[in-house]
Amino acid sequence: MLFYNLVYLLLCFFAILQIFVLLITEMTSTHYNIAIVGAGPAGTACALALREAGLHVALIDKSTFPRDKTCGDAIPGPALKILRKLLNTADQEFDQLDLKQRIQSSSVHLPNIKPIYIHWVTKAYNSPRMDFDNFLLYLVKKYTNTIIYEGIRINRITHNDIIQIEGKDLSLTCDMVIGCDGANSMVARSYNVDFQNNIKNSFAVRAYYKNVNCPENDNRFYLLDELPKGYFWIFPVGNDVYNVGLGVLTNEIKGKKTDVKAAFQAIVQNNPQISGILQNAQLLDKIKGFRLPLWSRRQPISGERMMLAGDAAYLVDPLQGHGIDKAMQSGVLAAQQAIQCFATNDFSATFICEYDEKVYTQIGKELSRNFTLMKYVSDYPRIVKMLARLGTNETVKKVGQKLFYRKKN
Ligand SMILES: Cc1cc2nc3c(=O)[nH]c(=O)nc-3n(C[C@H](O)[C@H](O)[C@H](O)COP(=O)(O)OP(=O)(O)OC[C@H]3O[C@@H](n4cnc5c(N)ncnc54)[C@H](O)[C@@H]3O)c2cc1C
Repeated sequence: MLFYNLVYLLLCFFAILQIFVLLITEMTSTHYNIAIVGAGPAGTACALALREAGLHVALIDKSTFPRDKTCGDAIPGPALKILRKLLNTADQEFDQLDLKQRIQSSSVHLPNIKPIYIHWVTKAYNSPRMDFDNFLLYLVKKYTNTIIYEGIRINRITHNDIIQIEGKDLSLTCDMVIGCDGANSMVARSYNVDFQNNIKNSFAVRAYYKNVNCPENDNRFYLLDELPKGYFWIFPVGNDVYNVGLGVLTNEIKGKKTDVKAAFQAIVQNNPQISGILQNAQLLDKIKGFRLPLWSRRQPISGERMMLAGDAAYLVDPLQGHGIDKAMQSGVLAAQQAIQCFATNDFSATFICEYDEKVYTQIGKELSRNFTLMKYVSDYPRIVKMLARLGTNETVKKVGQKLFYRKKN
């Protein structure tokens, strides 16, 4: 009798366990119209642009916010313009962002040449990505119905009849996936999008310092003799903290990340222009490095039911190394294309590639021009020096203003 009771109890236990497992699976396995992978500038701008579309949207990120992102922390002016177009409360919201530094000018420093100053008419800011990206995600939480999954790394995407997205403790299906997952995009890999033929790639390191002997409202760019194919920067980010970094074309370094770190440290210690400025500076954190997927030429960035935006689509400006604005701009374009797909019920690769065309005409053409300029700047440093010496301040300012896209109001 006792034996039968025990078997009965065991059966009940397994039945309850099975119901429990089914419930958990049901809770974590959901269907969405759109899954955005990555909640950086591209993913959050995309989610904000979808807010009135009436679609069921998921936004998934492997990190829990606030999270750090290795960056120079210079928020390009167009990024704020895009935000203003997305939300009419953008300015009031941005005022609430604590850690930011208003930037009045950028200056270019070449050895033995008077620095060239470009004074910005439009408002420009620096803000640590820890804070800025958290602010963007806060806007998504406040203004949209997006379902947000933080701390879930997507490690598998299959797309046969349906798109299945899987991460630890999460499995979902969707009609369309938008890859905003940065330079090492999992979405791009899953769809075999291959950017290996990119001619130029870049790697950059950055470190935070206090007590830097620099003004608090000027972004400094240094073109150094020892590294003609890259630049060193000193950007104030507020609260007396400075983001100091070095970006180099990867074709120019012999393979390893540590080479750029070593070059950075050597400049900090030995370069006569830099070492004085950082003489009494305290390093606040580890020196961190990451890859910059620079635009070099037009490549496919979409497929059936799939689009890539931001770094996942190689949209970093090859001249300046900026990508936050292009990430947001492409995120918005991807959202607009997605809305079109649902309106026409057409998710075919041929229809979606209209997105590629828009990215090319609205972003790519400008980046192609900057790619050519970057090649001249990096291949002919002597000509750059000569121009810097010859150029009158006014012409240099005008050219600089044009190159750096900060248009007068
Ligand atoms: C050292 C350095 C300095 C830079 N300086 C500047 C600068 O000053 N100004 C500027 O405009 N740009 C700068 N950039 C470029 C800029 O950082 C990027 O262009 C920008 O972050 C691109 O935004 P994104 O949303 O496309 O990607 P990201 O900001 O990289 O966001 C991608 C998101 O996807 C998430 N993710 C990745 N993989 C997965 C996965 N498998 N599952 C779930 N989530 C995932 C990540 O956690 C991340 O939050 C710099 C880059 C570097 C490396």
